[in-house]
Amino acid sequence: ETSTLEQIKETIKEKSVELLHLQFVDIEGILKHVTVTVEQLEDVVEGKMMFDGSSVKGFSPINKSDLYLQPDLTTFAVLPWSVEEGYSEARFLCSVKNPDGTPFDGDTRNVLKKTVERAAESGYTISVGPELEFFLFKTDENGYATQELSDKAGYFEPSPHDLGERVRLEIYRALKAMGFTIEASHHEVAEGQHEINFKYADALTAADLSTTYKWVVKTIAQKFGLHATFMPKPAFGINGSGMHVNMSFFEGSENAFFDPSDELQLSKKAYHFIAGVLENVKSFAAVTNPLVNSYKRLVPGYEAPCYLAWSASNRSALIRIPAKKGLATRVELRCPDPSANPYLTFAVIAAAGLDGIEKELEAPAPINEDIFHMTDERRAHLGIENLPGSLKEAVVELEASNFGAKALGEHVYGEYVAMKKAEWDSYRISVHAWEIENYHSKF
Ligand code: GLN
Ligand code: MG
Ligand code: MG
Ligand code: MG
Repeated sequence: ETSTLEQIKETIKEKSVELLHLQFVDIEGILKHVTVTVEQLEDVVEGKMMFDGSSVKGFSPINKSDLYLQPDLTTFAVLPWSVEEGYSEARFLCSVKNPDGTPFDGDTRNVLKKTVERAAESGYTISVGPELEFFLFKTDENGYATQELSDKAGYFEPSPHDLGERVRLEIYRALKAMGFTIEASHHEVAEGQHEINFKYADALTAADLSTTYKWVVKTIAQKFGLHATFMPKPAFGINGSGMHVNMSFFEGSENAFFDPSDELQLSKKAYHFIAGVLENVKSFAAVTNPLVNSYKRLVPGYEAPCYLAWSASNRSALIRIPAKKGLATRVELRCPDPSANPYLTFAVIAAAGLDGIEKELEAPAPINEDIFHMTDERRAHLGIENLPGSLKEAVVELEASNFGAKALGEHVYGEYVAMKKAEWDSYRISVHAWEIENYHSKF
């Protein structure tokens, strides 16, 4: 346990920590930080560090811009790559507060905390195991990202094809030094694509870990002259990157989704959870799949879902039930991608599942056939709907239901919808390479 202040002070002395980075995320989940000197530790811990909320997109208006950072002591970590000449740097992840000390509603970490509290009121702890895939691209002589992938290897391929071995090793070491429990590391299906898995945790910790993971992956990759991207579909014709979210609810030390007497060893609550997710996924897709580009991943043929169905083992389904049971019983939602804000993503999935449990919604029958290769008629016959086909459709769905405002809170909901509409509009009016290629000489 490195969480108590006394232990933090000891580590600071032992590692000669010179600087503290106070980190938080904006509405899109993008990491920000301000750096202070270690002499300010007492003030930092008391939440006295102020910043300009009007300079963070979606936070606060210019006339009410003072916001404060409250570090979460459990997130203290020395940066493994900072150590130089006997000095080091450390970071805290922070929640954002208003000047009166109340939680700031625009802080998505606070949104997830509220969802965690809502689950706790019903007796549940939310357990989350996310799997974030990423691509490595080469950089040019100025250090900027190119569109050239870093290798040509495929799923589980070792050296000499996998040119990411060395960088994945260094990412693993950095994450481990920062307190991660790493479970696996491998080359993914697409060329230049990788995945490193860490152990599941409670929802807030898992979102903190996801945020840290993205930062560490990008930072270490850069030290190797590579650009790491969590963009969901960086290249046409090959797999995109997903962020599968494995979720279960615990009641005390018991997994509430496990029932050994059921055919699939799932409890009634697990079926209601699945039904709640299926019921609300179209409304929350704009959160779990937040970019124009996200919808270019959700197409048939690339191991990413596009149809609303669940199954015990089918990787063409939106929801899969991994084979491991007992305490490891969980529901894997396969649509989210790693460009999503993990705090909001885990909040909307948990909220949808809680809705399902509260309303005792019935899950449809599992689909065990390959849905990608079904005819449209067969899918229609089975009542299998589609995920939204574009960011535009997803935002329309988000606005059409009251699920979003409830799950995200009014502040984040309002800012998020406005942001995504503007993003779609900017895309809608620009002229893309595809149009030039297909129309420019022909017409
Ligand atoms: N890359 C796939 C996706 O887009 C997942 C592949 C896998 O992990 N089996 O979700
Ligand atoms: Mg995986
Ligand atoms: Mg994978
Ligand atoms: Mg998976």
